[in-house]
Amino acid sequence: MSLNTATVRTQWGLAECIEGCRRHGIGGISPWRDKLHEMGVAAAATAIRDAGLAVSGLCRGGWFTASGSLGPEVLDDNRRAVDEAAEIGAACLVMVVGGLTDGSRDLPGAHALVEDGLARTLDYARTVGVPVAIEPLHPMYAADRACVNTLSHALDICDRLGDGIGVALDVYHVWWDPDLPRQIARAGRDRILAFHVCDWLLPTRDLLTDRGMMGDGVIDIPGIRAMVEAVGFDGLTEVEIFSALDWWTRDPDDVLATMVARGRSAC
Ligand code: ZN
Repeated sequence: MSLNTATVRTQWGLAECIEGCRRHGIGGISPWRDKLHEMGVAAAATAIRDAGLAVSGLCRGGWFTASGSLGPEVLDDNRRAVDEAAEIGAACLVMVVGGLTDGSRDLPGAHALVEDGLARTLDYARTVGVPVAIEPLHPMYAADRACVNTLSHALDICDRLGDGIGVALDVYHVWWDPDLPRQIARAGRDRILAFHVCDWLLPTRDLLTDRGMMGDGVIDIPGIRAMVEAVGFDGLTEVEIFSALDWWTRDPDDVLATMVARGRSAC
């Protein structure tokens, strides 16, 4: 199991997350870049290594559509993200690719911009040896966060771009897809670079920050995990819960203890 720092984002910085993982016997961590920058990349790399934690990913690069073109800021920032992922030994750099450019209705244009941005980041990432992981997001985020919304679309991009790129499969974003079993089989071991879990709550009270603890919602997490492991994925199960209304208000040690328990009973 791996702790994505978003799960205790309001309670803990990265140093506390690393210590928390150690206390709760969690074997991996996946930092967001804001937490990584707060601590300092070099200090974080040392602390993670000293704690013996695996790094299941770095969140996140991408956001290619923000300004409507691939300016140097966005490409430089993605190259920096690649370097940071390398420095902390991350298994992959997770990409949230960006939605529509502000004021635009040009979805095909956004798709093209994203693919170009991924290709250029991948060119650099290959020289550093950092795998790039496209995270397809649920279609409700197509306009504002990511216009790659199915595993099929993400794998089509991977097929066109070649080696060194794959997907971060997050059950929250893909559970509804009737094509999921076929696409997981298509992805295979080589393309599945990360596996994220949380749960889909009924009702969902906020589109971004009302994700559930595993076992509290409607996703068949063990079923999806079985499919992913059947094709050979042997990485960590990364817990990523955006929960302003619930888990972000709790004692973070209780959050981690619950996470570990649900890892056994609901994943
Ligand atoms: Zn995720």
